[in-house]
Amino acid sequence: MPHSQDVEGTNDPESPSQYECLQCGTIVEATTNPGTCSCGGDFHNRAKSLE
Ligand SMILES: [Zn+2]
Repeated sequence: MPHSQDVEGTNDPESPSQYECLQCGTIVEATTNPGTCSCGGDFHNRAKSLE
């Protein structure tokens, strides 16, 4: 059964991940990467380990 294809199949859209700003440490819970923090830092997904 085809679903609407306007969501990019990265992760389960029903389960938000926590993203942490690398610069100021702000935690944002979102289903997609929030991109750039208001401080100008980049977010990374806390569920994924940095390498
Ligand atoms: Zn920030």
